[in-house]
Amino acid sequence: MELLNKRILQDGRCLEGGILKVNSFINEQMDPEMMSHIGQEFGKLYANCGVTKIMTIEASGIAPAIMTGLYMHLPVVFVKKKKPKTMGETLNTTVHSFTKDRNYNVCVSKEFLTSKDKVLIIDDFLAYGNAAKGMLDLARQAQAKIVGLGFVIEKTFQGGGEMLRKAGYRVESLAEVTSLDDGKITLK
Ligand code: 5GP
Repeated sequence: MELLNKRILQDGRCLEGGILKVNSFINEQMDPEMMSHIGQEFGKLYANCGVTKIMTIEASGIAPAIMTGLYMHLPVVFVKKKKPKTMGETLNTTVHSFTKDRNYNVCVSKEFLTSKDKVLIIDDFLAYGNAAKGMLDLARQAQAKIVGLGFVIEKTFQGGGEMLRKAGYRVESLAEVTSLDDGKITLK
């Protein structure tokens, strides 16, 4: 996605350990117009695939997922990192966070992820694929069908995309970062 590539090169910063900082338009401050284009793009890519539900994980996945849901006229269910008291029965799994270097117990409402769902998973970043694996595990527990996954930014050098594609999943990434070596962002 040309607009996104330009923005990453203009505003993105490389941090230690293969982390791309895009805090000015995705992670700390958001650009709603950019998010709207992102949602539209995922909507086009997954049009006519029978998706019934978008799934994402809090917090940074929610914005692109909501915009995708808006364009596809579909509900967005999100995986939570803490179970609130108000939440009913949940499906649970563990996810390793690479940016925070810790494990999270995450959960999703049983009510909103069921065997009737055909799910499109959306997230901001694809790195090693741990967040995606967690969401796939929750979908498996719910016996929901996975139509595909969509990432705003895939860091191809960390292998999550390869792992998911090899496992047979459709993966669409709107920007592909092939290297962050020497403080330089290289895009495909
Ligand atoms: P994975 O689970 O694929 O290893 O990493 C994906 C998750 O970690 C995403 O949900 C995202 O929040 C976070 N993440 C991974 N890499 C980056 C990065 O380079 N920059 C930022 N801002 N977040 C990242």
